[in-house]
Amino acid sequence: MQTKDLVALAEEFGNPLYVYDAEKIESQYKRLTNAFSKVEKLRVNYAMKALSTVSVLKLLKNLGSGLDTVSIQEVQLGLHAGFTPDKIIFTPNGVSFEEIEAVAALGVQINIDNLSFLEHFGTKHPTIPVCIRINPHVMAGGNENISVGHIDSKFGISIYQIPHVLRIVENTKMHINGIHMHTGSDILDIEVFLYAAEILFDTAKQFKNLDFLDFGSGFKVPYKKDDIETNIEELGKKLTKRFLAFEKEYGRELTLAFEPGKFLVSEAGYFLAKVNVVKQTTSTVFAGIDSGFNHLIRPMFYGSQHTIENISNPKGKERFYTVVGYICETDTFANNRRIAEIHEGDILCFRNAGAYCFSMASNYNSRLKPAEVLWKNGKGHLIRARETFEDLLQNQIMVDL
Ligand SMILES: *Cc1c(COP(=O)(O)O)cnc(C)c1O
Repeated sequence: MQTKDLVALAEEFGNPLYVYDAEKIESQYKRLTNAFSKVEKLRVNYAMKALSTVSVLKLLKNLGSGLDTVSIQEVQLGLHAGFTPDKIIFTPNGVSFEEIEAVAALGVQINIDNLSFLEHFGTKHPTIPVCIRINPHVMAGGNENISVGHIDSKFGISIYQIPHVLRIVENTKMHINGIHMHTGSDILDIEVFLYAAEILFDTAKQFKNLDFLDFGSGFKVPYKKDDIETNIEELGKKLTKRFLAFEKEYGRELTLAFEPGKFLVSEAGYFLAKVNVVKQTTSTVFAGIDSGFNHLIRPMFYGSQHTIENISNPKGKERFYTVVGYICETDTFANNRRIAEIHEGDILCFRNAGAYCFSMASNYNSRLKPAEVLWKNGKGHLIRARETFEDLLQNQIMVDL
């Protein structure tokens, strides 16, 4: 997308505004599937918690994607967007047993990540196939070290507990049809990913009737200049080779699955907000925008660095700014950032606003959530209307006792 397109969209739809570039989502999807084109059965399950707006789900569905979901409501949204149950996988953590049963009853593949539910589910529903989520205890160290023993993670069944899993399977006669891992956003480099994959292969050997191996995600995309990025093409080459060899060894064709969120939608997103005030203090210049962590919380929540551009004055001389929001709490988007000279009324654009931005938005400070626009074929399509005051009152019951 070009700067002038974003400026025009802010004028057409108002601000603050989320914009998603459909072509970028498509090209990322194709990059991933091309990297693994030698795998006969490849499944990409978009991790919809990154951005769950139904028009985006539809776009991914039309590309051939499946869905990775973490709540029954996400499953329902996916079905609403037109995904069939067989294209959805449910990978929750910490949800109730009843919720897992309800999702399984919809015909969606479930993924269980604790021994207690595995035993209970296998006893009650021995004929429903179940995938297990393992914890391979791998994470990337501060540099390129592989450190083993991510023992504190609440996710997955420890690989040291596989003997107990096998005992449960034997006792209940349940069918384990997939092995899953999601090492999270800790995994920065391919060697670490491949190392974790070996652990998954080792685990898989112990189950005889698998249909798929799910390698989760954790693919990195660049957030700032010179940022690290997962080399998907290289990962594709190396993991494909290893996967095909494993299939031979295993003696049965398997589906290779991934569940990327960020990789598919992060770079496609732009968040546009107007500068309300430029405030010079004794130590810095603040640019205060018409938004806050109610709309985009990643910088405050995770310390994420979103590139910020002044699209109203892209050629202006760069100066240092601290970009802050309007929430009555500290809500700093960026500290001492070089941005083209800002005037009150200018529109700032936050890059990488596709993943974990709108989907984490709230109504804090009784503010309204922004509108969302999908950009396709040189045109902006409204996919979510800006909230109105009535939305704030919806479901409230005013009693005057
Ligand atoms: C969040 C999540 C993903 C997606 O992670 P990204 O870093 O956005 O790619 C995939 N799988 C599971 C189980 C998740 O919870």
